[in-house]
Amino acid sequence: MKKLLKESIEKIGTYQPGKPIEELEREYGIKEAVKLASNENPLGPSPKAINAIKSSLLQVNRYPDAQGFYLKEKLSRKLGVEPDNLFLGNGSDEIIQLLAQAFLLPGEEVIIGDPTFSFYQMAVVAAGGKDIMVPLKDFSYDLSTIMDRITTETKLIFINTPLNPTGTIIAKADFEALLNRVPSDVILVIDEAYGEYATDTSYPNFLDYIGKEKRIIVLRTFSKIYGLAGLRIGYGIADAYLVACLNKIRGPFNTNLLAQVAALAALDDEEHLKKSLATNRDGLTYLMSELHTMGIAYLPTQANFFLMKIGENAQRVYEGLLKEGVIVRVMTGRGLQHYLRVSVGLPAENKKFIQALTKVLAGG
Ligand SMILES: *Cc1c(COP(=O)(O)O)cnc(C)c1O
Repeated sequence: MKKLLKESIEKIGTYQPGKPIEELEREYGIKEAVKLASNENPLGPSPKAINAIKSSLLQVNRYPDAQGFYLKEKLSRKLGVEPDNLFLGNGSDEIIQLLAQAFLLPGEEVIIGDPTFSFYQMAVVAAGGKDIMVPLKDFSYDLSTIMDRITTETKLIFINTPLNPTGTIIAKADFEALLNRVPSDVILVIDEAYGEYATDTSYPNFLDYIGKEKRIIVLRTFSKIYGLAGLRIGYGIADAYLVACLNKIRGPFNTNLLAQVAALAALDDEEHLKKSLATNRDGLTYLMSELHTMGIAYLPTQANFFLMKIGENAQRVYEGLLKEGVIVRVMTGRGLQHYLRVSVGLPAENKKFIQALTKVLAGG
């Protein structure tokens, strides 16, 4: 008998999202839980985005603009690229999926850091590609091993910077060394979901390579610093031909009407962006100083989350924190089982986390 599911898809695990607040409150019977697990903007969306959504609510009987004309136009002006270089997706997740679907022939290889964002591997395997997992080295991409693993079958390389879950970045010089070694028939996917948070001066402007390099696609999202994760919208910046390829296979209305207007308005709110960056910076300063005092090791970060080293009982501490109403993220990936990933929250949330952690570690 024919198998119902493709064999390649049967093997894929399910993506483990951060636990939703409602779920924790339901399961543990607690109130006012805080979620520091999915790297969302704790300030919420820009008030401008909220107003834009409100003014568009009565139009949701209509299909959205399939081209996302106004959003692409604004992004184009803001980023200094042509609208033809822009692709809108239902979150950057969708773009990752479409890249795998559009470009992978069965068995073609994709190089992925291990551990990084688990959805890369899922999308690749689902599309019939072969996942070539390259372990991180010192919590960063091991670029020389990545270069060594490139073969004639390599089609895509996923690079996430700042890197989820470690918060490290790829410096410009290292990126250019990689770029020089990557054959011109390999597509380099630069996932900058947290790019807006990076402050290190060695952090490259990846848009500088668009136009020169035909095989680079930069992914960005409105889910993180723009605070619109629930609406699902992200974008890619690439050579017009790559964009046209993706346009062939996307759903005609892949980004919804409210997401488009909210993203458009959010781009105009510089003040909210600044406030979001300051909230993150101040939150990190507070959290790192508290952890330091508690004698807990943590990794410096260029993003809105960080790893802290708990040790063998990381899972127990995670569960203890849940009981205290604080959701963080367990790390199941290679080499990080002793760590928990924590997203930076509002001052009161950060404080609640530190208090809960102190209590849990004291065994109380
Ligand atoms: C959060 C995140 C994304 C963004 O996903 P969306 O689908 O745009 O919400 C992409 N890549 C990484 C590494 C992330 O952590």
